[in-house]
Order: sequence, then C-alpha cells, then structure tokens
Amino acid sequence: MYYSEIGNTKVSALGMGNMRLPKLDEQSEKIDREKAQEIIDYAMSHGITYYDTAYRYHGGESELFIGEALKKYPRDSFCLATKFPGHMMEKKGGGVLGFNGMLSGMPDSTVAGVFAEQLKKCQVDYFDFYLLHNVSEKSIPLYTDPELDIINYFIRQKELGKIRHLGFSSHAASAKTIDDFLTTYEGIFEFVQIQLNYLDWTLQDAKGKVEAIAKHGLKIVVMEGVRGGRLAALPEEQMAKLTAIRPDDSAPRWALRWLQDIPQIAVVLSGMSTMDQIIENVETFEAPAPLSAQEKDILYGIADSLMNLVPCTACRYCTEGCPMELEIPKIIATYNGVKNGDWTIRYNPAEEDPSLDPGRCISCGSCASVCPQNIAIPDIMAETAAMLTGPGR
Ligand code: SF4
Ligand code: SF4
Repeated sequence: MYYSEIGNTKVSALGMGNMRLPKLDEQSEKIDREKAQEIIDYAMSHGITYYDTAYRYHGGESELFIGEALKKYPRDSFCLATKFPGHMMEKKGGGVLGFNGMLSGMPDSTVAGVFAEQLKKCQVDYFDFYLLHNVSEKSIPLYTDPELDIINYFIRQKELGKIRHLGFSSHAASAKTIDDFLTTYEGIFEFVQIQLNYLDWTLQDAKGKVEAIAKHGLKIVVMEGVRGGRLAALPEEQMAKLTAIRPDDSAPRWALRWLQDIPQIAVVLSGMSTMDQIIENVETFEAPAPLSAQEKDILYGIADSLMNLVPCTACRYCTEGCPMELEIPKIIATYNGVKNGDWTIRYNPAEEDPSLDPGRCISCGSCASVCPQNIAIPDIMAETAAMLTGPGR
C-alpha cells in the first residue's frame, strides 16, 4: 500500500467505502456483518487506514457497523470519515432540522443532535475527517443558512478536537460552484470528495472540478472511481481493446490505475462488497502504476462510446423512498444495457420480479428529488417500460 497526506494526517491511497457492504439479501440494506467484518479485517491487515461512511449509508446501519467493526483496533491505527446529511434536511425554524427524501419520517433534530448521534453510533470521541454531504447548488442554501450556522458549528467541533479535518463531498455540483464555495470558505475546508473516473472526466466535467480544487491547494478523496460498477462491466468489444494490451488486468484495475497520476488525489475510495474485490484492489494500490498516454487514450475512446448512457452510479439513494419498491439502479442498468446494444437480455426481467418492472412506476418523483446525478428517473422508467414491452423484444 502506498500513502499520501491530508493536512498532517497520513492516509492510505486506497480507502474503504462503507456504502456497498455485503448485504443479507438484495432487496434490503441490512449488512451481512460477518462477511463485512472479514473485509474490514483484511483491509486493516493490508494497510488500509481510511474508512468512509455517512449518516444514511445502509439506511443508517453503516455508521453502527463500522463503529463496531473497528472497535477492536487502536484508535490511532485508522482514520474514520463520516458526513453531515444536510442535503437531506430542511430548516424548521429555531435551529431545528427535519429530514426529507429517504430519511423522511425520522424525528426532527439539530446540527448538534446529529453530530452527537454520529459519534455515539461510531463509538469514537472524534472523527479524523468530517464532511458536509453532497454540497450542491440545491443544498448550499441550507449549509450556509445564518440561523442554522452549520459550518461554524463544525469549525467549533474542530477547535474542540472532535474533528481533525473538515471537508465536503459533492456529486453533481459544477466546477464553478465548487470553486465559489471554496473561495467563500477559504482556509476552512482541507479536502473535497468528488466523483472522479475516466468517464466523468468529460461527462460531468470532473477535470474542471479537479482544477478548481487544485486552485485552492486542496487534496481530493475520490468516490465512484469505477462509477458504481459501470466501468467494471464494459461491453465485450471495449474490454477486448484492454485485454489486447494487458491480458491480466481487469476493467476495475484499468479504471483505478487511470487515477494514479492525478497529483491532487490523496485517497481513492472503493465500496468493496466481496473479498475478491478487496484482494484485487489492495494489489492495484501496492505501488502507483499510472497508465501511459496511449493507454489513457484507449480509455477515453471507451468513455466516448458510453456517453449516451444514463449516468447512474448505483448509490441507491433513490430506492428507499420508492413507494413501489422498484430496484431503480437495476432497471437503469437494463436500460443502459439495451441502449448499449446488449440484447443478451432475452427475457423481460419484470416478468420474473415485480421490483424490476419499470411499468409499475407511478411517476411520484420521490426518487428524482434525491438523485445526486440529477437523473430524470420517472422518464427513464417510462422509456425502459416501453423498451421491454415494445417491438423487437
Ligand atoms: S417516480 Fe417511480 S421509480 Fe421514482 S419513486 Fe416514484 S414510483 Fe418509484
Ligand atoms: S438513479 Fe440516481 S439515486 Fe438512484 S442509484 Fe442511480 S445515481 Fe443513485
């Protein structure tokens, strides 16, 4: 494992993401704690020191799990990062916040109340890294609301030693929004977590975001390096171009190596769900082995061929609030597969499982309001339903 630094803290180049832990069954968010603990133990024994979670991951169970899983290790042997869920909150007045989106129905709280709950769930006295979750054009008014005073609250927690480094994550905010936010809070944030991979480099202007963050001299924590698995399962003809050069390297390894010479990157998070994934990723981060210019050009060619696809990262923010309990990311994967010429889906998955039937969507829009990629999900459901039942099937 190789290492970098954020502020004065040493961090492993590969970080363990805790939003895609192994689950007890596909339909729920319940963590298979035995399998997940095995992955964490492997990570700890192979030099991974950065562990990322968030208030809402696995329906709130991720923070509880990681607190339990890391409890047996000395506190200074790992760095724990979690996030304040302001993007899923609304102001109620008098400093009180209500939850919305998939967290709606939870009791109202305050900034201090949420933070205290997180420390307790994670069984720690301080967080090494603490982020405002999903800073965007939509969430900035809440994060900067003078009455709520959220950012000053966390500055005070840092002064009290309960936070070592303050940052924020951003999924779909523009490079300009990130730049402006950093300018307003110059000297406050020490790192930014962004979605970065060779497809989003141009598709979501990740290049512009890296430049904006570099302008402020800050480090980057990468999320979605393999784009929620999208870049792990390339169409056969695209994969053949990669194996012709490096027969032993998988598509995820290509995607992760693409990141290894971007100097601002400190940590690349990977939401590892299986032992096979963590074993391969640890090997990939044994030492930096960046791609050559020619190899990168091949990936950019593949990215061009994927541009017309719906940019779902399978984060599952949308699924919990769906009244029809639709497996939205799987339906979008079907949509992308068919759009990509994958007619190996020779049957209509909806006939086997109602959660895969986009025709059951009632266009309530609850999913689209929480999608960090701003995907028009009800429209995609309607289009997929037409694809699966229309002529040619
Ligand atoms: S718009 Fe459709 S897919 Fe989205 S939450 Fe409503 S029913 Fe579910
Ligand atoms: S549709 Fe949006 S919210 Fe749902 S899994 Fe995909 S990226 Fe996440």
